[in-house]
Amino acid sequence: MTQDAQTPRFSFSLNATDGRARTGVISTPRGDIRTPAFMPVGTAATVKAMMPESVRATGADILLGNTYHLMLRPTAERIARLGGLHKFMNWERPILTDSGGFQVMSLSDLRKLTEKGVTFRSHIDGSKHELTPERSMEIQKLLGSDIVMCFDECPALPADRDRIASSMRLSMRWAERSREAFGDRPGHALFGIQQGGLERDFREESAEALKKIGFDGYALGGLAVGEGQEAMFGCLDFAPDMLPTDKPRYLMGVGKPDDIVGAVKRGIDMMDCVLPSRSGRTGQAWTRRGQVNIKNARHADDPRPLDEHCSCPACSHYSRAYLHHVFRAQEMISGMLLTWHNLHYFQEIMQDMRDAIAGGTFAAWEAEFHAKRAMGDIDPL
Ligand SMILES: [Zn+2]
Repeated sequence: MTQDAQTPRFSFSLNATDGRARTGVISTPRGDIRTPAFMPVGTAATVKAMMPESVRATGADILLGNTYHLMLRPTAERIARLGGLHKFMNWERPILTDSGGFQVMSLSDLRKLTEKGVTFRSHIDGSKHELTPERSMEIQKLLGSDIVMCFDECPALPADRDRIASSMRLSMRWAERSREAFGDRPGHALFGIQQGGLERDFREESAEALKKIGFDGYALGGLAVGEGQEAMFGCLDFAPDMLPTDKPRYLMGVGKPDDIVGAVKRGIDMMDCVLPSRSGRTGQAWTRRGQVNIKNARHADDPRPLDEHCSCPACSHYSRAYLHHVFRAQEMISGMLLTWHNLHYFQEIMQDMRDAIAGGTFAAWEAEFHAKRAMGDIDPL
């Protein structure tokens, strides 16, 4: 056996489909990722308020790290010197990093966009930086990312067709440069990103360009950027089917539980969102009966758990009254417990969907998911 044949490769296998929904496994040298998968966001080398082992305990197989944040602080070079992002943040399982493109557009100051890339000033200290497809690939390699994303540009919606087309075509030229710069790295994957807004013809053109270059997986970019759920689902009714069926499909930046379920129904395999952790820090909990605002005075004397059917530590050991109290007192455990619950709930939805797709009962599961949410929170005492 040659050395190359012994190197574990990145691979994807589909185990079952139900309608357009799919379940399978992405295999990487750092472990398997069960799909459909939800990736918690570890922006600055931490999923805020959570220890890595706790994130794993919620059922997460993979985390997302943000190139933009990490390149500015503590820098990719420093992380590389310290042994890479997995070691640095004590997460040995797979990590996907975004390309930095989206956050340069949304967070940095004084951006200048050219064919070569983007120059910008850091939102932290005003220092000047450049991101190009080549530099993004270099940073993601320094971080040691298992799944690397192409550097792309994403226009905010609504935008006119000319703007969407020129942006998409620039992203396709950058995708080719990203592929070239990424090179051949066994065990690591490079994902292309389909753009084209909500326009079917541009989505098609983008998919064709990406397939010609060839990637290990394909993301749908430029969605969940303010277009609304109906418009997003309208695009997901056709866009995923333009991408290869034998490669993972990743919908970036999604979303709320009903967004996630609707995306999986339409053939999406991977998603990420800051929502469960960010909501947890602002007193918002997501349960099978919808959203609960723990700040509300109705919880102050309520000895019941947030969700009596949930097995997370917040629901197993604490009352709504306690969660309400620690939020009001601004205790750190408030964000910790609610984040844990939210991440646990999101992962539970994913496991339920994987089971339902494997069992051919996705439609029935989805109907029950919506019926429970429609009931709303339990009645006050
Ligand atoms: Zn819970």
